[in-house]
This record gives sequence, C-alpha cells and structure tokens, in this order.
Amino acid sequence: MANDINRKNKPAPVALVFLIGAVILVGATFFRPVAPAVQMLPYSGFMNQLEQENIDKIVILDNNLIEGTLKKGGSFKTIIPYSDPSLLPKLLENDIAVEGGSSGNPLLRIAFELLPWIIGFVFIYLMMRNMQSGAGGKAFQFGKSRAKRYQEGDKKITFADVAGQKDAKYELEEVVAFLKNPQKFTKMGAKIPKGVLLVGMPGTGKTLMARAVAGEAGVPFFHMSGSDFVEMFVGVGASRVRDLFDQSKKSAPCFIFIDELDAVGRTRGAGYGGGHDEREQTLNQILVEMDGFDAKEGVIILAATNRPDVLDPALLRPGRFDRQVVVAMPDIKEREAILNIYARKISLAQSVDLERIARATPGMSGAEIANLVNEAALFAARKDKSEVEMVDFEEARDKIIMGVARKTLVVSEKERKMTAIHESGHALLHYYLKHADPLHKVTIVPHGRALGMAMSLPEEDVYSRTKGWIEDRIVICYGGWAAEKICFDETTTGTKQDILQATEMARNMVCEWGMSEEMGPVAYGQEDEPIFIGKEIARHKDYAEETARRLDKAIKKILDNARIVAENILTEHKDKLEKLADVLMARETLTDDEVRLLVGLPPREAVVV
Ligand code: ADP
Ligand code: MG
Ligand code: ZN
Repeated sequence: MANDINRKNKPAPVALVFLIGAVILVGATFFRPVAPAVQMLPYSGFMNQLEQENIDKIVILDNNLIEGTLKKGGSFKTIIPYSDPSLLPKLLENDIAVEGGSSGNPLLRIAFELLPWIIGFVFIYLMMRNMQSGAGGKAFQFGKSRAKRYQEGDKKITFADVAGQKDAKYELEEVVAFLKNPQKFTKMGAKIPKGVLLVGMPGTGKTLMARAVAGEAGVPFFHMSGSDFVEMFVGVGASRVRDLFDQSKKSAPCFIFIDELDAVGRTRGAGYGGGHDEREQTLNQILVEMDGFDAKEGVIILAATNRPDVLDPALLRPGRFDRQVVVAMPDIKEREAILNIYARKISLAQSVDLERIARATPGMSGAEIANLVNEAALFAARKDKSEVEMVDFEEARDKIIMGVARKTLVVSEKERKMTAIHESGHALLHYYLKHADPLHKVTIVPHGRALGMAMSLPEEDVYSRTKGWIEDRIVICYGGWAAEKICFDETTTGTKQDILQATEMARNMVCEWGMSEEMGPVAYGQEDEPIFIGKEIARHKDYAEETARRLDKAIKKILDNARIVAENILTEHKDKLEKLADVLMARETLTDDEVRLLVGLPPREAVVV
C-alpha cells in the first residue's frame, strides 16, 4: 500500500490534551459551587410533602423556584411549573415559614450554569487547533485540499500488477517517462501533455492504473476524489483546488490524480436544484489552475471518469485534459490474466480451470473478478477446505451475478410452485428458439430480489446482437408470464421485471436499432443522459405526435408477437413444462444438461461452467 508521508510534523500529544480536557469538563460539571445534598423534588412530590406536613420552611426564589428544608432534615428544590395562586394560602395554612428571596446575582448564576459549557468549547477549540497542526487535522481544514499524498512504498504497484490494458499502458508510458525525468523533455522542447483523462467503466482499474504510473515513475501523487471538492460551504471547493495545485508544485515531479472527475466536472449550467453554483466555482477554479501552470514545472494531472460524455467541454480543450486513455473492460483472455494474478494469492485446487471461469464471467470488470476470487476463497474457508475448488468459484460467481443467495428466505409452497413454473417457462424456451444463447442453469433459490432465475450463457463474448437474437430474447422474457398463464390461468407480479426488459428491448429495436420494418432504420428521439445519477433516462422527443403513435404501434406489435410465440411453444410443451417445474421444486437448481436429460433432448458437448 501507499504510505502517507505527509507527516512531517510529529503528531501532537492529542491524547494528552484530550485527557486533560475531559478531566476539566467532568470536574466542572460535578463540582459546581452548589450547596451539597440538595434534592430536586418534582412539584407533585413537593405537594405530597406539604400535605404530610413534612416541610419545615421554604424560601420562594424568583417566583418559580422554591428552596426549602424538611422537618426530618435535608434541603430540597422545586420548580413551580405554573403560577399557582392557591400555593401561598396553602403554605400559610400549614404554618410554614415562608420567605421571599432572590437567587443572588442572576448574572453570576448564569455564569455558573454556563461554566462547564464554556470550558468545553474552549477545550474543543484548542483540540481543533492542535489537530490542525498535527497529522489528523484534515477534518477541520475546510479550505485545505484534503488531498492525500501517496508515495508508493516498498511494495509499489507497477504496470505488471495490472493485467491486460496493453493500450492504456502504452499511452501512459510517455507520462511515466516524463515524470521520471522532466528536464529531459523540457530541454528538447517536447510538448508534454498537461492533463490525461482515464476513461472506463467502474472497476476497470483506473485508480489502480494511476497508482501504477506513480510506481513506475517513482514519484508521489496527490489523490483526490471529485466529490471531495464539493462541500456544502460555498467557496470551499475552489479553495481546495488552489491548495491542491500549490501543494503539488512543491513536490514536483509528481502528479495529481482526480478520481471521479465527473462529480465536479459536469457541464456547467446543466444541473437543477441547489448547490451546483459551488460545483461550478470549483470547476472554474480547476480550469484556471490548469491554464495557469506549465507542465515544465513537472506536474501532470491525471483524472478518471466513467462518464466522459457529461464532462464540461471546456475540460477537454487543448491544454487541459486533451489526452484520453481508455481503460477497457477485460475480455476473456484478460479476465483469465486477472484471475491468474489473484488466484496466485490463494491456494487453488488442481482441478480449477481458470480459463473456464474466465469464459463464464462475461461482462465482469476487473474489480468483480478480484472480488470473485476473494468470495470463492471465503466459500472454501467456510466449508473448512484447504484448497479453493471449482464449486467455490461457481458459488461465488452466482453470488456476485445474482446477489446474495438467500437460502433461508421462507417462501410458501404455492409461491415456490409458481416460481418453478415461471422459471421453467423461461428455461424451456431456450431449447425451442433458434437464436437464443444456451441455457446455463435454472434455479428457484432466491437471489437478491428475484425469487428464481433462468440464466443463459453466450458461448463467447458478444459485443453486438442480431435482430433474431433480440427477438428470441424478448420471447424468453415472456416465458415466465406465459407459463404462469398456461398453468394457473392467472399471472403474478413476478413478471414485472421481465415485461420491463421486453418492453425496453422492443423500444430500442424500433427507436434506435432500426429493426422495425414499419419505422425503418431511423433513430427516433435522443436519449437524454440523466443529469443526476438515479434519474430515469428521458427520451427527448424530436418527432411528431403522429410518429409517436406509430412508434407505439410498432413496439406493441413486436411485444405481441413475442408473447404469442412464447404462449404457443409452452402450450405445445405443457407436459415438459410441468415436469421440469416438479423436478425444480425438488432439486431447486438444474443445469443445462440436467434439463436436457429431463425433457428428452440430446446433451450439448461444449459444457461451460
Ligand atoms: P476503477 O477506479 O476503474 O473503478 P479500480 O482501480 O478501483 O477501478 O479497481 C478496483 C480493483 O479491481 C483494483 O484494486 C484491482 O484489485 C482490481 N482490478 C481491476 N482491473 C484490474 C486489472 N486489469 N488487473 C488487476 N486487477 C484489476
Ligand atoms: Mg476508482
Ligand atoms: Zn421471469
């Protein structure tokens, strides 16, 4: 790991200050100059004492506070909750000596009451000052950059620790060469990139790559996340940027790494809701700082984002982040390489075939692969095995893909039956559609929020899909719905996600992929990227009402056709559907081969994980 070397000044004896402060605080609270052994009586308790004639004498202070002594000894205090006109007659009736009085100088009293608070605040203030000059002070320095300075230590990360990513490494070589020896470049008058933007999906290793650059070049770097700049106090972000750049110049050669640049670098004027003024100020400051310094000083700015499309164009102009390096999702070979890196750190059974695992994890990022190995090791450990086996990887993979398996969830028999029918519907369709991917397995073990799952598995990584495949996919989506309808004559809410998926695919077929004969290969409506994460994607309408109606019709037609195909196939094979569901109820999970055997289909040769 990187070690924080920002500890020039020795951490002050924070603990000691803390201790002294605590002692003062506690002392001030308990040893306030108050007469000893005065008990607080509630007003009702006071009235009780009065009725039982236990009270000796009282002093009424400030109209609502009574101090008094009891006949059997001891003094008390009572607060009168409201002005009680019957009190005084009652007291006199009981022959109690009543005195009026004052609690003394009210200002003094208040001062005494406040004393512990004042001491407390002074103490906290001192502690803050102390921490600011010490190591842990970052939390209180609003205007300071909060950037962590990293220097890769003995176990530094290099490009060798990053599997694959050949292109990205190649592009970053230049940055590394420059950071190693800036003078060499400046002497030659070579143009040096000021800002390099790493672009890639989450978990593809952008942060890892930045650390590897530092490791390769042997220079420190300042790490800050885009969201760190944006605070609730206006002006803080901008001053943090200034501070970050100032600090980095002092450590040149080095680089600044701004992770999640999009948090601060979104197009100006695009946000709604409050708070974006602060963000814009911060962004402006970044632009100003980037213009204001020269790469000759030996500082380069690296940034990472998974949303380059939302970045303010000003950031990408020449002289700023004009160089983009794509950090791609791993393909089969790269997944295997990543698996290799992490599998080396655990004890692996001989039988584990990493290539097969790589093949079974399409679409997983480097981070997910790393997590997969870790989870597999955990599964093995839980079973007290000495080696991690293939089944552990399978379980880990299912857990990651489908959410945590909730085997303990209690599902009623009726619901299980319904789920079994539903999933069997999805599963069976895989065998009767020409373009569908092979089924991987079908299960009624609840995963995440789904009660069951029928998973298919492409035989290789696929980056584009044919019309036939998508049509079949939509049919499979309707498999659950159709099976429920055929076997129970009614459907459940469990079809929601399927219908949503089918509709989304049909809409894309018509509006984006030009796969509808009626509407032709035309893009209808641009998808507005969500400005804030979590917002739905809004389709920007750039067509007439009339066209909108035709679009709806074309989408509906695709969906209707698919639904009918699903119903027809499953009606024809209703016996197999029910048989499959029954076995599924008993065994919970069935693989492709098991399903084939059950419904009387020949086994498939290429068996994947
Ligand atoms: P990002 O910043 O792109 O979201 P990270 O750099 O944080 O991704 O990656 C998370 C983790 O995933 C890394 O710490 C590393 O363990 C693993 N990882 C991702 N890609 C790779 C890779 N190509 N080689 C090795 N490990 C990787
Ligand atoms: Mg990251
Ligand atoms: Zn379903």
